[in-house]
Amino acid sequence: DHQVHVIGGGLAGTEAAWQLAQAGIKVRLSEMRGAGDMTPAHQTDGLAELVCSNSFRSDDADKNAVGLLHQEMRRLGSLIMTQAEPAKVPAGSALAVDRDVFSQGVTRALAEHPNVAVVRERVDTLPTSGMTIIATGPLTAPALAASIGQAAGMDHLAFFDAIAPVLHYDSIDMDKCWMANRWDKIGPGGGEGKDYINCPMNREQYQAFVQGLIDGEKTEFKEWETNTPYFEGCMPIEVMASRGPETLRHGPMKPMGLDDPRTGRWPYAVVQLRQDNASGTLWNMVGFQTKLKHGAQVELFRTIPGLEKAEFARLGGLHRNTFIQSPKLLDPTLRLKSAPHIRFAGQMTGCEGYVESAAIGLLAGRFAAAELLGQPLPAPPPETALGALLGHVTGNEATADYQPMNVNFGLFPPLEDVKKKQRKEAMTSRARAALGQWLGELQPA
Ligand code: FAD
Repeated sequence: DHQVHVIGGGLAGTEAAWQLAQAGIKVRLSEMRGAGDMTPAHQTDGLAELVCSNSFRSDDADKNAVGLLHQEMRRLGSLIMTQAEPAKVPAGSALAVDRDVFSQGVTRALAEHPNVAVVRERVDTLPTSGMTIIATGPLTAPALAASIGQAAGMDHLAFFDAIAPVLHYDSIDMDKCWMANRWDKIGPGGGEGKDYINCPMNREQYQAFVQGLIDGEKTEFKEWETNTPYFEGCMPIEVMASRGPETLRHGPMKPMGLDDPRTGRWPYAVVQLRQDNASGTLWNMVGFQTKLKHGAQVELFRTIPGLEKAEFARLGGLHRNTFIQSPKLLDPTLRLKSAPHIRFAGQMTGCEGYVESAAIGLLAGRFAAAELLGQPLPAPPPETALGALLGHVTGNEATADYQPMNVNFGLFPPLEDVKKKQRKEAMTSRARAALGQWLGELQPA
């Protein structure tokens, strides 16, 4: 009675189900809320419930990657974006909704669709056959999470994200930092490795920094987050700092083996940055997962020599999450390589945010429909927001320490010789042209 089984009626699963149904495909959409189960963050049994803020962030498609993503999703008939319209509440240039009107709209649209059967049920094991989309989100019920761990390999399934801040390369002052791997020899015959950017600190700067971590305002863990397996493995840097002034200097900030070319000696302490994406536009602060509030992070991290003008693509965070190592496990159309009847969508794939989760749900639904109908669907171009986000999720297998990411311009192919001021508008017009071309190719000949 159904051709595709979508498991999880959140932002991603509802969008995937809609895309399939609109393509004329029969869908079973399983959602455990309403059948006696709940997640620690949900309050209702409404589909696509917003568990926290009611904002889809900026709707400005000319200067903002998430606004551009909204626009692209609208052009692809997104259920989430369509239902956001009647639910809109005033929020400046942001798109914010009345969460009840929004969830009721999504729930009604799917209930009324002749190709969708919404079944309130908890699914505990990965289906062994039949085209399936798993979209059970960051708080996937434990039995299914264990079944996914079995299929994907437990070391490819995370229960927490430990997100270190990611910053734009062109906002780093390279006159104060230098590139080297630890134990590189500098000078004649110096080592080849230039993988890390090193930001040196003297004793005073280090001591002030450690104090700033201890004093900085933090987001507390929710009580239901701390009684979860693997919690111990996630140590925010401010907790390390509170364990003694030397802890960081013998941990993520150790200077050993990093000769500062200007002095020929190791600095007192070093903050290391590692390249975060293939094009080198994004760099993450190694080992700097933190629960500091975002404002406190920006203020404190800009005291690090070389980062005085840092622009952040993503700030640090540490949350309960359930996500897989997608770059290793998924093929370019979001199928599990080891079991290609299964696709993943939403926050579980390592994207971050309501809109991003729905966007990956939209693509999973479109890819599944194309496969079933035997119509090839090329991936959206990397110059589009959809393509850039998909590239983060199914990009290079070699991604070290894969962590969730919001859509941001650092994920797009860099634009050469465009002044910084015009860059965002140039990115968005390039994206619109690329999307237009892609859509043109999709029109049946
Ligand atoms: P969900 O929307 O969580 O949908 C998954 C669905 O699957 C749920 O309805 C769940 O009940 C169901 N389910 C789970 N297991 C099973 C099972 N075994 N069988 C059947 N159904 C099952 N993002 C933002 O943009 N802004 C925020 O403010 C924000 N705050 C967040 C706060 C918290 C506490 C959390 C955990 C996440 C937050 N996120 C936020 C991140 C993310 O965008 C949301 O979690 C978003 O809902 C993810 O969409 P999804 O479809 O992947 O998962």
